[in-house]
Amino acid sequence: MHKTQYSLRTDLNNGIIEIPAPAELNVQVRNLVMKTSKGKTLAAGEMIAEHPSKLGGAYHTPLSGKVVKVNYHNLTIKCDGGEEAVAPVDIASMGPGKELLRSLQDLGIGVAPLSGAEILVINGLNPEPGVSVAEQLLKGERELLEDGLKLVKKFIVPVKTVLAVAEGAPYKLAGSETQTVKPKYPNSLDALVVKAVTGKEFPSNTKVISVMDLYHIGRIARTGLPMTHTVMTIIGNNYRVPLGTPIRHIIDHLGMSVEPHDKVVLGGPFRGEAVYSLDEGVKKGDYGLFVVPAGSFPPVEDAACINCGECVLFCPGRIQANLIARYVEFERFEMAEKHGLNSCFECGLCAFNCVARKPLLQYIRFAKAQLKARGEKA
Ligand code: SF4
Ligand code: SF4
Repeated sequence: MHKTQYSLRTDLNNGIIEIPAPAELNVQVRNLVMKTSKGKTLAAGEMIAEHPSKLGGAYHTPLSGKVVKVNYHNLTIKCDGGEEAVAPVDIASMGPGKELLRSLQDLGIGVAPLSGAEILVINGLNPEPGVSVAEQLLKGERELLEDGLKLVKKFIVPVKTVLAVAEGAPYKLAGSETQTVKPKYPNSLDALVVKAVTGKEFPSNTKVISVMDLYHIGRIARTGLPMTHTVMTIIGNNYRVPLGTPIRHIIDHLGMSVEPHDKVVLGGPFRGEAVYSLDEGVKKGDYGLFVVPAGSFPPVEDAACINCGECVLFCPGRIQANLIARYVEFERFEMAEKHGLNSCFECGLCAFNCVARKPLLQYIRFAKAQLKARGEKA
């Protein structure tokens, strides 16, 4: 049995620190439905795109400015430092119906979890080792989280609400009972948190929501203004970052060192993805940023699998990531599906521990995206 354990415990020394407004925003708009165009002047909070899915949340500019570039991937806004901002939406006066659900979507919230269920699980564990956003929000934003919970409950109407937190953590939320979970990665992933609380895998009577989502919903409930920032752990502190802020702006502001061939990663050490350019903008849901110095790890590459089996042993679901990767290499996505692709909850442990440094998680994500695209076309 493997003894390696990845702790989710963190030390919180400060509150959330603001990243100052950048001069330019780069918003990723690939696959979104555009609601603005080049040359348009935007007020802070104005909608720039809608999500193509029925339940996805819209995207807004956090700062006022002019749209100076639009292509398939990105939209660039030159910020003007202006005060012009959108008017708040009167969320408080709305009952739990279609109007409120639509307003939440228009203000940036994905509403897929907002339908009836017996059990509501609030995932209050830090998502990955070295990332402390969940604890930071539970510690410093309790009232906003409780406002968010009240609003969420209007739709879910749960019989039982459970806040899952790390063993030894002192956090509580009004309107929920607390259950502790061993703070070892990947226990923080939704599927495992739900299993720890209910004892079942993927129970149909249960909804799960993260404290980050509750925080955004709570903020909207209180202000009526759209979601325009994310909270990220960067070199041990947590920062409030306007969406679309270029990575370069954060790195310069915090005086971080990035040398040629270093990798800059958005997310955490297991599930994060290296950015292709420092001009890339921060996205919804990004919760971490860190630099992997060149030479500190062997590079991830398409090396041959040596059939050591480590990926299977590290996988909490004993999925054969090696076999799935082989099918994906030959574009046999339906065979990858037959071998447990959809049971994978993308913890990244297989890839992290692959001795050949194969990009197993990327293969898995690629296969899921290909199958989804085929399904949408069919
Ligand atoms: S990412 Fe890898 S280790 Fe994690 S569940 Fe999927 S196959 Fe298993
Ligand atoms: S850990 Fe890597 S090299 Fe070993 S079996 Fe899995 S894919 Fe192959």
